[in-house]
Amino acid sequence: MAKKVAFFGLGNMGGPMAANLVKAGFSVCAFDLVPASVEKAVADGCTAAKDEAEAVSGADFVISMLPNGKIAESLYIDGAALLDKVESKALLIDCSTVAAASSRRIGEAAKQRKLRAIDAPVSGGVAGAEAATLAFMCGGEADDVEAAKEVLTHMGANIFHAGPAGAGQVAKACNNMLLAIHMIGTAEALQLGVDNGLDPKALSEIMLKSSGCNWSLEKYNPYPGVMDGVPASRDYSGGFMVKLMQKDLGLAMEAALASQSATPMGGLAAALYNLHAGQEDGNPDLDFSSIQRFFGEQS
Ligand code: NAD
Repeated sequence: MAKKVAFFGLGNMGGPMAANLVKAGFSVCAFDLVPASVEKAVADGCTAAKDEAEAVSGADFVISMLPNGKIAESLYIDGAALLDKVESKALLIDCSTVAAASSRRIGEAAKQRKLRAIDAPVSGGVAGAEAATLAFMCGGEADDVEAAKEVLTHMGANIFHAGPAGAGQVAKACNNMLLAIHMIGTAEALQLGVDNGLDPKALSEIMLKSSGCNWSLEKYNPYPGVMDGVPASRDYSGGFMVKLMQKDLGLAMEAALASQSATPMGGLAAALYNLHAGQEDGNPDLDFSSIQRFFGEQS
């Protein structure tokens, strides 16, 4: 008999992730507060649960992909209290991007009830969710991360064990803080070159073969017209939205405050993205490489 997955949060990411589990032969029971999201999941082969308790009844895996930590803590502990409803065989996998403290709280509460839970935030965006090529950064017991691979391998291409509960969130915050920093640095350098008469394509080619080479320049050039198929070539539509980068930088700053770490570059990146988001009504919904426009406007 097919193993049962209870899936909470069938939005932009969770929808295609659940659909990939259906394709892999799991029986997926979906729950979301938005009826349209549930209808789409049913069209993809999931069944709809009338409430949270029905969704987790008999579930082998519980997966959540929710907007923030408050909602995740409410689902597992304070509100729907899934931790008091799941069967002991269930492995709980929260894929939402939340503060490490939220994941630690859920992990600790699960442990107290002798349940298995891991945090497993992702990198790869909606395209990665659709193509089942996400990277999962997991926090929790090694055995539980190993057991989670039974489902994670059908939604992603790379699965990492970062450390104990919350470590997946820390890894994600570090990665996305670095991503913001090198995207901003790349945009700043390209604008400096253009302001001094250089062709952005020629400058990109030079830096790609020089010490300034980095992922943003190589895979995601922010200057319009330099690279095909990236958000900069389509008015910064699609991709990873500015508002999601703001959220992730906020979580990185929260982590830095908690550990008293010096993150001046991350702090500056957060401030620049906040400024950029506030400049135009539509900016929060643009791809994060649109930070290039911020530098263009200063020139
Ligand atoms: P989304 O807003 O499209 O989806 C979230 C879904 O959760 C919605 O359908 C919402 O109705 C549902 N939901 C809210 N409260 C619920 C509850 N109590 N029970 C059940 N469902 C509930 O968001 P998304 O873009 O899919 O992002 C989900 C998570 O993935 C976020 O934590 C985000 O930071 C992270 N993430 C997103 C991306 C991306 O590119 N979109 C990339 C990496 C990580």
